[in-house]
Amino acid sequence: MSSIYQGSCRRCGYKSVVFSSAYGSVLVDEPTEATRGNITRVGRFFLVALRHPGEHYDLARTGFTWRQLFEQGRFIRTRKVACRHCGMLFSVRNLEAPALGCSVITMIALAVGLISGLVSGVLARKVAGGVVVALAVSYVTGVVLSIVVQLYAWAYTRMHFGERGREIHGHNACPTCRSRAWRSAESLFLRYLCPSCARRSVRVRMVGIS
Ligand SMILES: [Zn+2]
Ligand SMILES: [Zn+2]
Repeated sequence: MSSIYQGSCRRCGYKSVVFSSAYGSVLVDEPTEATRGNITRVGRFFLVALRHPGEHYDLARTGFTWRQLFEQGRFIRTRKVACRHCGMLFSVRNLEAPALGCSVITMIALAVGLISGLVSGVLARKVAGGVVVALAVSYVTGVVLSIVVQLYAWAYTRMHFGERGREIHGHNACPTCRSRAWRSAESLFLRYLCPSCARRSVRVRMVGIS
């Protein structure tokens, strides 16, 4: 699920472009026939967007797998941000690790939970107690495993592709005033600077879901 947002100023009526929440892209070596029309150039890099909800289809057209994106440092996350100086909304891109092994983590978590539930249920001779333990242990195991895997992926990407990550990050700046100070544009609680009337009166709202 991907949310669609728009900023609007309650003082002057300014409306920002409509934008979606963060999305992933694949760093490819060069454009091909299969990826034509879906390529963004950032410095010397070519990025193919993984458009929601057809991410797997877009990924297949690049010829890479999720695992290769991780191992070869090819996953870019794009976020919309608001410039702290002029209020313009723009995109920033960073090299990150894609979320890995969700289904494997879920299976391990369920298995560990099931075994703990069975053992405690048999020991206490209570079925309900066993079910509660199974659910609780599954949940905690899933959360802990996800954190460990993400930390590992983050460290791996920084260690092997640190220079590439810094180069991509180096292209991030406000297109209007070149400022490199920004804040996430996805917060629904903050007020942003209006690029039109220069007052802090822009609110971002969710205007749809894709
Ligand atoms: Zn700016
Ligand atoms: Zn305004």
